[in-house]
Parts: sequence; C-alpha cells; structure tokens
Amino acid sequence: MFANWHGFAEGPIWIKPRWPEDLARGLFSFRPHGASLAPYTGLNVGLHVGDDPQRVAFNRQTCGIELGGSLEDWIVGEQVHGTNVAVVGLEDRGRGSDDLHRPVSDVDALVTDTPGLTLVVLTADCIPVLFFDPVKRVIATAHSGWKGTVGHIVRNVVETMHQQFGCRAEDIDVWMGPSIRQCCYEVSETVAGIVIDQFGWQHVVKRPNKPGKYLLNLHSCVRSDLLAAGVLNDRVHDTGVCTACHTDVLFSHRAEQGRTGRLLGAVRLV
Ligand SMILES: [Zn+2]
Repeated sequence: MFANWHGFAEGPIWIKPRWPEDLARGLFSFRPHGASLAPYTGLNVGLHVGDDPQRVAFNRQTCGIELGGSLEDWIVGEQVHGTNVAVVGLEDRGRGSDDLHRPVSDVDALVTDTPGLTLVVLTADCIPVLFFDPVKRVIATAHSGWKGTVGHIVRNVVETMHQQFGCRAEDIDVWMGPSIRQCCYEVSETVAGIVIDQFGWQHVVKRPNKPGKYLLNLHSCVRSDLLAAGVLNDRVHDTGVCTACHTDVLFSHRAEQGRTGRLLGAVRLV
C-alpha cells in the first residue's frame, strides 16, 4: 500500500500520478518537512485554517518547486462541499494562490485545457481527485467529501470535460489521493441512508456495538460514479492511504478534531 511513497526521511513525501512529465504533472503532498507549527505541524498548504500565511506560502513554494511552474499559475476553488464545476483559463490564473487573491467562489471542481495552469484541491480527509485526458490534453481537480460524492461531483467533472472539450470518458485517467477510509470514516444512519440511495448497500457497513453508526467507503462510491460516467476501471487509481490512521504524516480533520492543516492535490498541464 505504501510502496508508492517518495522521499521519506530526507525531505517531503509525495505521491505522484504516473503521467508523462512532458504532458502533465500531478502531486499529492504529505505532512513531513514543512514550515508550519502545531497544530498545523509540517507542510500545511491551507491558508484558511488559522496558520501563519508566511509559513503556508513557504510550504506552497516547496510543493510548487516539485510541480514546476510558479505559484502565480495556481488556481484554487473555494470548496464549499458542493457539486459545482468551473471551467477556468488564463483570466483565473493566480486565484487563491495567496492570501491576496480570492479563490474561485462556490466551486469544488476545476477544469482547464490551458497549458501552464496548475489546478489545486486542498483536503484533510475528503478525497482529492485528479483527472487527466492525454488525448485532448485537459486536466481537472475535484474535492469529494460525502456531500460532493452523493451529489456526483466526479460525474459532473467527466461530463464537463466531455461537453466543453470533447473528452471521451474512456481516455481519462483519474487518481484519488490520501483521504479518510472505511477503517475510520464513521457516519450517521442519515448519511448512510443517503449513500445507499445513490450507490447501494455495498459501500457501508454497520458499526459493531454502535447502534445507528456506519462505516462508509467513500472511495468505492467515487469509483462507482466514475464507472457510471464511462471511465474505465483500470484508469481509476486509488493511492490507498488513510489520513485518520496516519496523522504523523497526513492531516486529518476528524482525527485531529478540526484543528489541523491541509494537504495539496494538484495537477499542472505542461
Ligand atoms: Zn483509517
């Protein structure tokens, strides 16, 4: 499960989608070796969690060096646990890249075909999802917590890529980054019921000795939604790492009672 980590001990840890580096560069960040102090200790890239903006800027720079391009190429969505997808271009360059530039409002997913732009998703338990179509040269990101997932945000992304840029679903490669997994993701009966309505029984299990509590497999829901949209099963990649199980190297909103940093999911179209 952890064989795909890079850079342990000597520097930051990354998981990178296996994409040709001359076409697209993707990245999922981890926690070690950043500038932030407790409770954000490490490589926090979230500006809106109460951390020192200068430390966040330093951490973002560390990630930016790994991705290539500059921080002014970044575009960040507001992320409101909704299902809206924004098609972005050069006019949006730099939005959300620092504390002076507002993120793209009211969106949880970004799509572009503009080379040189870096699309960013920030998470601490929700699934960061990266998309790349090497045929049409289109990239996308999505922030998929349970609300976005049951609202079919990843299907919205695939449909937007098709409608706006003519992408075929079977050409799209998708990566799910570090996020809370079924081992730790307890939800109420109400949430479990909504998931069952949308995706069926196979994605939740009753928690033993805890009446009314369920464990949710968000990753299998997202995969199911992607397959329904026409993405091929062997092109949906799951990094398989649970944030809540590994707060030493990852940020987890649940496991750290909401006081923690954010991980970076990003893709840059070269
Ligand atoms: Zn876990």
